[in-house]
Amino acid sequence: MKKVRLFALSLLTVATFAFPAQAKVPGVPVGVDGATKGIVAVSHPAAAQVGMDILAKGGNAVDAAAAIQLALNVAEPYMSGMGGGGFMMIYLKDQNKVTVFDSREVAPAGAKPNMFLQEDGKPIPFDERHTTGQAVGIPGTLLGVEKALKSYGTMKLPDVIEPAIDLAAKGVRVNWVTADNIKNSLDKLQKHETAAKVFAPDGVPLKEGDVLVQPDLAKTLQLVHDKGTNAFYNGEIGQALVQEVQRTGGSLTLQDLKAYTVKEREPVRGTFRGYEVVTMGPPSSGGLTMLQILKLMEGYDNQKDGFGSVAYLHHLIEANHLAYADRAAYMADEDVYPVPKQGLINEEYIKERRALISDDTVNTKVQAGDPWKYDPGKKPVVAMNFSDPSPVKQTTHFSVMDQWGNLVSYTTTIEDVFGSGIMVPGYGFMLNNELTDFDAVPGGVNQVEPGKRPRSSMTPTIVLKDGKPFLAVGSPGGSTIIASVSQTILNVIDHGMEIQDAIVAPRIFSSAYPAVTWEAGLDQDVILQLLAIGHSFAEKPTNIGNVQAIVYDLETGKMYGGADNTRQGTVLGVDAVAYTTVQPEAQQEELTGPFVLEVNGLVYPYKADQKRMVNGTAYIQAEKLLLGLNGDFATFREKAVAIDGIGFLPVKKVAEALGYTVEWNATERTLHLQK
Ligand code: GLU
Repeated sequence: MKKVRLFALSLLTVATFAFPAQAKVPGVPVGVDGATKGIVAVSHPAAAQVGMDILAKGGNAVDAAAAIQLALNVAEPYMSGMGGGGFMMIYLKDQNKVTVFDSREVAPAGAKPNMFLQEDGKPIPFDERHTTGQAVGIPGTLLGVEKALKSYGTMKLPDVIEPAIDLAAKGVRVNWVTADNIKNSLDKLQKHETAAKVFAPDGVPLKEGDVLVQPDLAKTLQLVHDKGTNAFYNGEIGQALVQEVQRTGGSLTLQDLKAYTVKEREPVRGTFRGYEVVTMGPPSSGGLTMLQILKLMEGYDNQKDGFGSVAYLHHLIEANHLAYADRAAYMADEDVYPVPKQGLINEEYIKERRALISDDTVNTKVQAGDPWKYDPGKKPVVAMNFSDPSPVKQTTHFSVMDQWGNLVSYTTTIEDVFGSGIMVPGYGFMLNNELTDFDAVPGGVNQVEPGKRPRSSMTPTIVLKDGKPFLAVGSPGGSTIIASVSQTILNVIDHGMEIQDAIVAPRIFSSAYPAVTWEAGLDQDVILQLLAIGHSFAEKPTNIGNVQAIVYDLETGKMYGGADNTRQGTVLGVDAVAYTTVQPEAQQEELTGPFVLEVNGLVYPYKADQKRMVNGTAYIQAEKLLLGLNGDFATFREKAVAIDGIGFLPVKKVAEALGYTVEWNATERTLHLQK
């Protein structure tokens, strides 16, 4: 479980997340000495160290980012690497410009729109389709890193690859994150065997404290070191890759590998409360969807409503529904179908969309709008998308700033944890399953097509204040990425939080009515009130995303970082600031108690000690019950009884008075209310 606040320099203090005080300068922690010579925020300490060493040696942010990516390939081989792709966003201080290297995976020439359909026309279940060679897109990471280095780095690929070779050959300590991921992915790893031999030798998953040594991967990295990226895109590594993809059902050829090109792209830009938000455009849906959310939220006084309040969360959930509806309809690879980039964030269009949000009721019929009305471009002649929800993914985001003020915000992926589960035999790296980011059902802008990039949600972002960089931020998490990044920005700018608080503050995710997932730390009363107006909160919290960010204080020239504690997030400054998050203790809350209350099919989050069973009658603490059922205390005052000095109400009587039908299931000890 998330949401234990950790913030420490040399002194480690861990406290439960409490709604924090305002930062003096948004994002900037009070009482912390910032770095001036460069800083990294990375999800794994070994890769963070590699990046920090490069900065300390005089490398720039691009050099450090390249080295971090290669080191992550070794330290977090299940999240990103040369078998995948990503978006590296760079702010170049000298030119005061932001640019992006898009090394997103591409569908091979042999890919077909219906390749993820069964014979009966239904999509192949996600669990099956993501572990075959068909799911593997042409990887771009190595070329992306190389192109960024050649364009804006000061070092060469062999210089920045050396630490990764070392880590692979000597080994990396298995941390709790790696151990958990191996354990949870065992079936997938064993499906294609090669990966299982590395991560679960003799069928036993590596555990925390073991050392992960990857000689095949060391050999591959050494080959790239000696022979360049050609060894991969037109050499022995590529040949082995192609063979394995074809063996597992894919069509990828050496021709496809040779044809891969990295694209340097313009980011998309929008404003939010006087800040300029520079973020990822197509083929990602991330930036535009996030800008829509921010701009919809700009219409509310979020600071006054307060972080975690009913009003704030209600507006946020509704804004997310509107933005995600447009995402599904209009966003895909712009090199193939035009995307209404201007229309989607046009002020008038946003006003039109915001008018669909009511302050006190839930919009149950959200549909995509028509941003083309506000866009000078030409609407493509294709149907709406047919997105079918796929499970939440995990990837990696990291951020880097150097002593000259250059910034990198880089989200990098092999799509699922351990990608397709396919490791290239003898070469030790995992292959992505990125093509499952296309819609399985053809007909929309995001259908599978050869040479096309699947729609992404990755949202590497750089926020500027007065034209200068102020925040670099991003997250993994598939479509939840957009929610994680937008909420971190709202936390910093609207709620004035310090960056670490902004990251560990509990997040919510809801892309469509009615289901809401949420992180531990939200107030129970707030959840009950949101349930009462029709939002369906999941019974239990889950972690959402993994944000790594850097904040720059324009006034003092100091740099600060924030790292997420859902992994071993690490911030290392060259001359100040160093901390690693610790695994939050699992908070086991007894929810069940004497009975369960289910309202319209949803288990309500009443804690065990808020429920009583007296002589066969179910009681719930008065004010909690009334919050969840939207009842008024004055009406039910007389029915309240004192138990252990606290006011309780009989659930059945109250519910019936409020118009619910009530049924008791004795076997499940569940009280069902229906309206
Ligand atoms: N495949 C996902 C995307 O491009 C990334 C997975 C993740 O970020 O966790 O949106």
